[in-house]
Amino acid sequence: MPFWRRRTNPATSLDEFVGRGADRAADPIDLAVAAKQWEAKIGARKRGPSPLAISAFSLIRGGDLFERKGKPARSDPALIDRYAKEQLVVHANRVKASTVDDAVQGVLQVLAGHPAVLARMLLAKPIHLELIPDGDDFRRFGFPRHTNPNAAGIFWNDPKDDFAMIGLREEHVLRRPHLMVHEMTHTVHLMGLTEKERDDIDQMLMPVYRSKRWVEEAVAIYAERAFGAKYTDEDLQAPGLYGKTRRDWNPKHVFSLFIAEWLRPAS
Ligand SMILES: [Zn+2]
Repeated sequence: MPFWRRRTNPATSLDEFVGRGADRAADPIDLAVAAKQWEAKIGARKRGPSPLAISAFSLIRGGDLFERKGKPARSDPALIDRYAKEQLVVHANRVKASTVDDAVQGVLQVLAGHPAVLARMLLAKPIHLELIPDGDDFRRFGFPRHTNPNAAGIFWNDPKDDFAMIGLREEHVLRRPHLMVHEMTHTVHLMGLTEKERDDIDQMLMPVYRSKRWVEEAVAIYAERAFGAKYTDEDLQAPGLYGKTRRDWNPKHVFSLFIAEWLRPAS
């Protein structure tokens, strides 16, 4: 049996790395630069707030709950299509077309809520979406050596590449719709926020999670919940903070409110 098919731990992690190796990189956005890029790509705005502004951060900066008049805007479906066409490079790797389609739709739902999240991702590096055939190994598809072969999904970003990568294991796409939310949330967290916005999240979560890698996981798990994840016992009992964060999640926690306002999942 080749080494990548040897399953030493039957409990599947949603995503993780093993042993030593580089952390995935963040590509923070610079709002001043991005505003000019947006104008060149989509056109100048006439009036109103910046199309790149995310007011959700006021929740975790000052703890303020803001009043909103009417329903919040949602992403323009034409721009979601444009993202899929221009920014998402799908490598099906002979996985069944309907599974590939579920994976793509699952990833795109993270961009379907907040127009500024989508706008920022239209300006970020493109994503290569790799479907990993059942039982195969992420590392054969360009993921780094320290990728856990038992992971269900991975987000990876290396500063020297002009694209980032999401890997989704075929056998989990249908069973775990929250997998796509999880991996795409890593993407918008690490590639769709300014340095300051990411620091604000760290400041709130570091006292609990103690490491940046776990803060990233907590953000992705809170997003799973916000998008209505239905967990199996295996998900809830997953090792380390994966299971614990899922069990402890509370919709009234200020961080849950932040996630809901940042990503605006369809209700
Ligand atoms: Zn993760």
